[in-house]
Amino acid sequence: MRFTPEKPPLTGETLETLTARLKEQGEPAFRAQQILEWVYKKRARRWEDMTNISKKLRTWLADTFDLMPANLLFDKQSQDVTDKLLLELRDRSLIETVIIRAPQEGVGLEHSRKTICISTQVGCAMACAFCASGLAGLKRDLSAGEIVAQLLQVCYREDASTQRARDELASFDNIVVMGMGEPLANYDALIRALTILNAPWGLGFGARRITISTSGLVPKILKLAEEPMGFRLAISLHGATDEVREKIMPVNKAFPLAKLLPAVKTFSEKHGRMVTLEFILIEDVNDSIDQAGELRDIARDLHAHVNLIPYNTVEGLPWKRPSIERQEEFADVLRAARLPVTLRREKGHDIDAACGQLRLKTEKDREALTV
Ligand code: SAH
Repeated sequence: MRFTPEKPPLTGETLETLTARLKEQGEPAFRAQQILEWVYKKRARRWEDMTNISKKLRTWLADTFDLMPANLLFDKQSQDVTDKLLLELRDRSLIETVIIRAPQEGVGLEHSRKTICISTQVGCAMACAFCASGLAGLKRDLSAGEIVAQLLQVCYREDASTQRARDELASFDNIVVMGMGEPLANYDALIRALTILNAPWGLGFGARRITISTSGLVPKILKLAEEPMGFRLAISLHGATDEVREKIMPVNKAFPLAKLLPAVKTFSEKHGRMVTLEFILIEDVNDSIDQAGELRDIARDLHAHVNLIPYNTVEGLPWKRPSIERQEEFADVLRAARLPVTLRREKGHDIDAACGQLRLKTEKDREALTV
């Protein structure tokens, strides 16, 4: 499912594709580099800002491309650890991009990490039983340009509030592809967007600081393992046996653990980097000590880092997070095996806006903006 806008976003062009388009116009090759420098380094918000580009070419560019395909509707700064940007796309779809300042607990470092969480689809088709993003199903894939636009919007915001160097997303530690949607179900747009994000002529953000989170699309994990850019991988496991996992994640029927785990192993061997296993703790669903034992064995075999996440309640869904005692007992099983494990402890419920929790409250959000 795609949306074809009147004009393609400039933020979806690579140096190569833009050079080719400009060549057709009889423009020299260096012109593409100049234009992209305006977009990513100087953060031009209007075509007329591009002062070393001729008026004629600027007119052609304006007729041909959309400079920024996402408008910032709302910038919600929270009291706590997350800020949320609500963006409106050309077809009026709404997406959210989240900025998280997370104190690093569990690894002994008392510094705050800054992470940007981006979306790859409007809605989601995976239908995980506990997740808000998939409640209304999939509306459409985002284009590469729309994915990149989320990061540029974060840059605009940073530029406005700080004096820091403008040439990269330098102040952020990580970018996680954990917002709305299943990134690997929108593979080509994802890779193109991450190429732009990573490229020196783009946002220059290191591949090793980019984590892609997937519910477990095995063929795409294997494909990702072949990509030259070394992205990090996180797997939404959430069940350590097929019996438990398939109750909450329909994707497990097509790709059960016997297929998923070897694919994850292939990925981590290829990249020589630890994969993260995400495990949301949901009371009486996957929080038994047996599950902890199974998870320990999986993590040990994969040399994976385990990220335990106490479930965030979602309005309209019956699931709950276990007690703190139960969370600790569960974590202790992994700790006893000396496995790298993090148990996320959030402050307050503001984190409800965190990634993995992005709900398409389209109408409600829009109403709130018009009052
Ligand atoms: N589709 C991808 C990325 C988006 S979800 C994936 O499945 O990995 C990002 C993470 O948030 C996933 O691990 C997801 O399972 C988790 N998540 C979803 N709903 C949640 C909730 N209510 N509380 C805590 N984590 C949640």
